[in-house]
Amino acid sequence: MPRPSALFPDAVQVFERGWLSSNNILFHGKDDTALIDSGYVTHAPQTLALLRHSLAGRPLDRLFNTHLHSDHCGGNALLQAEYGCHTAIPVTEADKVRNWDVDALSFQATGQQCPRFGFDATVSPGDTLILADMAWQALGAPGHDPHSLIFYCAEEGILISADALWENGFGVIFPELDGGSGFLEARATLDLIASLDVRVVIPGHGRPFTDAAGALQRAWSRLDYLASDPVRNAQNAVKVLLKFLLLERQRIALADIPALLRGMPIFEEANRRFLRQEADALAEWAVSQLLRAVAARVEGEYLLNDG
Ligand SMILES: [Zn+2]
Repeated sequence: MPRPSALFPDAVQVFERGWLSSNNILFHGKDDTALIDSGYVTHAPQTLALLRHSLAGRPLDRLFNTHLHSDHCGGNALLQAEYGCHTAIPVTEADKVRNWDVDALSFQATGQQCPRFGFDATVSPGDTLILADMAWQALGAPGHDPHSLIFYCAEEGILISADALWENGFGVIFPELDGGSGFLEARATLDLIASLDVRVVIPGHGRPFTDAAGALQRAWSRLDYLASDPVRNAQNAVKVLLKFLLLERQRIALADIPALLRGMPIFEEANRRFLRQEADALAEWAVSQLLRAVAARVEGEYLLNDG
């Protein structure tokens, strides 16, 4: 496989981040610059430093979000303050952001932070954006998030897949956790991706990859596994939410974990519908899962981030 940098035209630059922050994709156009996704708030200064270095004195003109999870838009406020960049968000999120409706936005439900930001325009499925002087089609990609967009450049065969398709899997199917529909939508999104002529995928997390067909096979099979028993999706969500907390804080007192989980409305909903366990028992289970996956370790009274 060629080096990742050789996978794209020079005008498209991917900052591969970790799991707390989404990847950032920077477009160096002839006349303007643009960024897709801004990472998590605690990494926002690092995001800005990466941008400044790469932009080498140019301003950031435009900012887009694939979807409004805290790890994809947590740097919006800082980038807007720094650059005054024109910001466009998925069209179905407009009212929630305009009113900063914390109940409807996902941050409160997941116990995650996101500083308030504004927007200037919206993007709808079917819109064409010019980024780095190339045409990118916005496509609706519900499943992980009902409002998510992905971006496809047919000319170059590049897909920006957000959390709809990773090299190994996809993001938690959140809508199912509180009684909505997500499995069917996720399947339709994977089918849509399969219909495109994709040469390289830039996922929301993890390295860019070329084997879209292999990733789709793994994603379809994981989706079958989750959809055949929604308890599995809820269990996966508890693990992921705890890991996210750990990524953010790096260490958490073991005794605090049940209360932290109970403080997330989405956890309470998923537990009420699917898991039906005491928070203490679930916390213990989730910790054991992270230890088994070497995603955490215990030192004394604390759970520490690992992996
Ligand atoms: Zn997401």
